[in-house]
Amino acid sequence: MAEPALSPDAIIAAEARYGAGLYAKRPLTIVRGEGARLFDAEGRSYIDCVGGQGAANLGHAHPAIVAAIQEQAARLISCPEIFPNDQRAAYLSELAAALPFPARIFLCNSGAEAVEAGLKFARLLSGRSNIIATMRGFHGRTMGALSATWEPKYREPFAPLIPGFQHVPYGDPDALAAAVNAETAAVLLEPVQGEGGVRPAPSGYLAAARRICDAHGALLLIDEIQTGFGRSGTLFAIEQSGVTPDMLIMAKSIAAGMPMGAVAVHERFGPLAPGSHGSTFGGNPLACAAARAALRAYRMEDLPQRAAAKGEWMRAQFAARNLPLVREVRGLGLLIGLELKKRVQPIILSLLERGVLALPAGPNVLRLLPPLVISDEDVATVVATVSDVLSGP
Ligand SMILES: *Cc1c(COP(=O)(O)O)cnc(C)c1O
Repeated sequence: MAEPALSPDAIIAAEARYGAGLYAKRPLTIVRGEGARLFDAEGRSYIDCVGGQGAANLGHAHPAIVAAIQEQAARLISCPEIFPNDQRAAYLSELAAALPFPARIFLCNSGAEAVEAGLKFARLLSGRSNIIATMRGFHGRTMGALSATWEPKYREPFAPLIPGFQHVPYGDPDALAAAVNAETAAVLLEPVQGEGGVRPAPSGYLAAARRICDAHGALLLIDEIQTGFGRSGTLFAIEQSGVTPDMLIMAKSIAAGMPMGAVAVHERFGPLAPGSHGSTFGGNPLACAAARAALRAYRMEDLPQRAAAKGEWMRAQFAARNLPLVREVRGLGLLIGLELKKRVQPIILSLLERGVLALPAGPNVLRLLPPLVISDEDVATVVATVSDVLSGP
């Protein structure tokens, strides 16, 4: 295995000097991963509850993914969609069979790009322009996706954004019903608000959204970029609601960490107008090969069920401990949020010092997104370490 190219100090210095400066960097380097473990340049091991910010549901260096990528890299990496390709064709049919509704699929390269495509398709198919999204919703950073994202600090420096977007309180069917009308192209919802604080949809909310959309001829777009591919306890979170969306938007763990996004458009709309949208890298054989291996691994290793069981156990453990710094324990599957009575940033640093990498979801929510392949032993260590750090003062 190749040695890290630079010393830890040189890694940190080079990123600080030549990176664009957009990210608040943590005081460590990550150079290798295996399963739910990450390793720094000095070989220290961490339990990964960042999970590639949701892209690493299969953990790191999963043998089936490594093999699929190696094999396909030696065969064909680039192949624009003007040429049919074996890996893409196989993936499209395999993903279509795994989706909870009959669909046609657009392939792209990231979450924001998938949201952009979903928004464009909604305008194209409805002939309308207005989009209803939700307060605390997160859909990405490109201009269209950002217009649907709520957080003012992400939006304000980039105004004016795209016209036609409105935000309603999440989880409130009456507010949604009051906002949707004959000019609404689409309602865009996360089944669990991830970035916005790990807030699962209240029971019946997604079904109410479906009825409201149907009553006005608006499309229902479900953003499963963070909840998809087993994270929620089912392959897609929407399956737990019994609701059929018009579009399902995917990315993050779709190709086990390879950059990829996708939009599944309900079959009833038929094919989209040729030339109306596209992507150079979209549907490239390397990402498709990784995504095929990922889909097989989710199924063969029973990862959605394992995520459901492990997540339930973790939430029950946290709740039972009545931790003095915790206001509420929330989540679905292995998407876990602990709302704290204080700011989360210092907690994340204490956890790092104790070998657990975790994420915030807003200023006072600790978010845990471990790979679904995490061992029971590591799950228990995470619960013990987090509980210890949140015991006070
Ligand atoms: C991460 C995320 C996005 C944006 O995905 P990128 O690949 O970072 O552009 C959009 N929606 C949700 C729900 C996400 O969690």
